[in-house]
Amino acid sequence: MAEYTPMIKQYLAIKADYQDAFLFFRLGDFYEMFFEDAINASQILEITLTARDGGADEKIPMCGVPYHSAAGYIEQLVNQGYKVAICEQTEDPKQAKGVVRREVIQLVTPGTVMEGKNLLDKENNFLASITRFLDGHFGFALTDLSTGENRVSLLSSNFEDVIGEIYANGVKEVVVPSDLEEMFKKAMIDRCQVTISHEDNCEIADHVKQLTNHLDDEKLVLAFGRLLNYLIKTQKRSLDHLQQVQVYYTNQFMKIDLYSKRNLELTETIRSKGKKGSLLWLLDQTVTAMGGRLLKQWIDRPLLNKNEIEARLNMVQTFINQYFERLELRDLLKEVYDLERLAGRVAYGNVNARDLLQLKKSLEQVPGIYNLVTKLEHPYANNLGNQMDLCESLTDLLQRSIKESPPMTIKEGDIIKDGFNDTLDQYRDASRNGKTWIAALEKQEREKTGIKSLKIGYNRVFGYYIEVTKANLQFLPEGMYERKQTLTNAERFITPELKEKETLILEAEEKIVQLEYDIFLTIREQVKEYIPRLQSLAKVISELDVLQCFATISEERHYCMPHFSEDKLIIKDGRHPVVEKVMQAQEYVPNDCVMEQGHSLLLITGPNMSGKSTYMRQIALTSILAQIGCFVPASEAVLPIYDQVFTRIGAADDLISGQSTFMVEMLEAKNAIVNATSRSLLLFDEIGRGTSTYDGMALAQAIIEYIHENIGAHTLFSTHYHELTDLEAALKNLVNVHVSAVEENDNVVFLHKIKEGAADKSYGIHVAKLAELPDNLIERAKEILNQLEQGEKQIAVTREDSMDLSNNLQLSFFEESKASYQKEEKPITSKEKDLLKSIKEMDIIGLTPLEAINRLYEIQKQLKA
Ligand code: ADP
Ligand code: MG
Repeated sequence: MAEYTPMIKQYLAIKADYQDAFLFFRLGDFYEMFFEDAINASQILEITLTARDGGADEKIPMCGVPYHSAAGYIEQLVNQGYKVAICEQTEDPKQAKGVVRREVIQLVTPGTVMEGKNLLDKENNFLASITRFLDGHFGFALTDLSTGENRVSLLSSNFEDVIGEIYANGVKEVVVPSDLEEMFKKAMIDRCQVTISHEDNCEIADHVKQLTNHLDDEKLVLAFGRLLNYLIKTQKRSLDHLQQVQVYYTNQFMKIDLYSKRNLELTETIRSKGKKGSLLWLLDQTVTAMGGRLLKQWIDRPLLNKNEIEARLNMVQTFINQYFERLELRDLLKEVYDLERLAGRVAYGNVNARDLLQLKKSLEQVPGIYNLVTKLEHPYANNLGNQMDLCESLTDLLQRSIKESPPMTIKEGDIIKDGFNDTLDQYRDASRNGKTWIAALEKQEREKTGIKSLKIGYNRVFGYYIEVTKANLQFLPEGMYERKQTLTNAERFITPELKEKETLILEAEEKIVQLEYDIFLTIREQVKEYIPRLQSLAKVISELDVLQCFATISEERHYCMPHFSEDKLIIKDGRHPVVEKVMQAQEYVPNDCVMEQGHSLLLITGPNMSGKSTYMRQIALTSILAQIGCFVPASEAVLPIYDQVFTRIGAADDLISGQSTFMVEMLEAKNAIVNATSRSLLLFDEIGRGTSTYDGMALAQAIIEYIHENIGAHTLFSTHYHELTDLEAALKNLVNVHVSAVEENDNVVFLHKIKEGAADKSYGIHVAKLAELPDNLIERAKEILNQLEQGEKQIAVTREDSMDLSNNLQLSFFEESKASYQKEEKPITSKEKDLLKSIKEMDIIGLTPLEAINRLYEIQKQLKA
């Protein structure tokens, strides 16, 4: 068998180290891919698959992308979760003996992108790592390479916590030890759609020790070490912008598990998974990208410390009061670019002059912001003001050095201002003077020779020349004119004088370009020194931005300042912030919610579509808003500081998991019950729906009793089991409330108003009517309902009784049917017999009203057919 060519052997050797990445192998002006990579990439990128002779018997599959347009293709792959190893020629092909040396210079992965479309302004791009310690606990580290933020935390041994953190931070890629159990990897891939990468080295090298040497727990250091080593290995370049690692503990913040976060649509909606329609979307009145990212982080981590919360709230109040200052601040902030990412790119070495201009422009706003903030005379504001590093010397440097409209590239000059560098000025003088001198020479030569059309020109090959048309050649004096080039109608000459100037001018120009490039790099190095200062400035600015955003939204939507109490909750005229905003034509009906004097459990009944779920969520969102330091959608609010919020939705209503299994519902309920404390907020929305009536009702009741007896958490429990409202008599902390609806001319009108006491009826059939099911079907459903309701008292006891009930029911149903058929004096057909039999066997108790209607509809359709 023939051997592969040396180049293919080289390819295979490099590829062996990058099995899980597409290897972009530089060949002249192209990045080529071979073998499997080529086959896969040609499909994903929709590029032509070809083949190449690689020395072996079979041709090698190959595809490639041009070097200059590679960025877009890389972006496309990374966006889909793939990794791309960029392999360059690392020696001059002319000097190479044999195959040109090649090396991977960077591994681009979903968690390490530094620029391009994959990097959204208002979103962090987090890479995480997990480390499992001997005691089973997980270390969790996070980095955003584009901003340089680093965090690390110790989580419990419950993997759900890891999943929760991955979700909360929108992590794109997770670095794990190679021996991590497959089950964990699978959970992360399936539930969080992350890319998995491996790194086993957790030792932190000396040159990066300063990132972690303030950490006192070795576990934290190890946890971050894995992440850092992965970065060093994949990025192979300066990571000077990485910030000191911040330790955080999940118990410093209100805990909202993954399921609840999704359900409350904090940062993305359930259906579209987009920001629009989420709480984040509603709140986002930030003007800077940094502020936008901080807002999302705050929403993900509501505070627990009352002082910290109130400090934010007071600042929001100040911004509401100081309307004009707030407007001015917004205007200033609009001119502030993304300092964090600019800093990141400075360190990374990929900023151009335009980026530095953005930096300059941003810094020019800072003194104005500083003045404004200190003028507010508010302790929080003053504190922020004191933290502001104006970086004036940097502003000055950039103002003096960078021209106003520099080109994109940094290698063609035209970047540095006059007066910044003496040598550069001299070269520029030489070049400019030279040009003036040449213009003068042209004039002089014309006069001397009397040839009006004589001109001095320049081209790359021959340099400067004096051009004389053939017709005029006779007028040219003999001697100093040396012939350089002959054209069809003209001759080109050079003189010693011109030659001398030419050398000066060309040298100057060459030197200018080179010197400008060098100066630019020096400036970039100087800017690098400022990175930590820029990063801390960015923090202050983003905080100001989020606080003004809270003020803006609170004012615009008439929110009120919440107050805190140990254990009571009183919300007057509460609204669901997002539903209220998206409702256009109709008015949102505000609702109160009161839990005090030990009344910690509200049992909510009311027809379908009346507003139970919305009401419950609005309580949770109000608490979250308050604990992130924003005003709340109510006219008055006194709230406890909740340590955790749980929302649980009955499987029948569950839009989220898509797997409406009852098991999931119960697991989620278990998680909530096990983890909740007396300081938590629990929302149970129609729990027990996913199983048959008896089961469901029994479970719902048992859960309520359990919470009542053992947890004591503030709980909102909505149910369609009216029987449960009887619990009010037995459980002293339970209060019945209902969402009211009225019947008008046999139609139900939802008032969306929460009232005391239990609802008297389920209006499912009315909803069916609203949905315009056929009239006779609705009539039929009403009859059935009546009969069901008559039997209801018997339902409450045991299975055997329920058998009796269904027998009775089916009998009367049967007789009635018979009666109606007798009227028409038609014999019962066999099809009808079958239908009756199927009705007889139906488990009516186990059906929801809607299911009952659907069955009825089917039956009727078949009868009519
Ligand atoms: P339920 O959980 O009782 O079935 P939902 O909470 O899902 O009802 O609410 C049904 C619809 O009613 C919502 O989509 C919303 O448009 C509307 N709604 C709910 N609460 C209100 C309210 N307070 N004011 C106005 N409309 C409301
Ligand atoms: Mg509901």
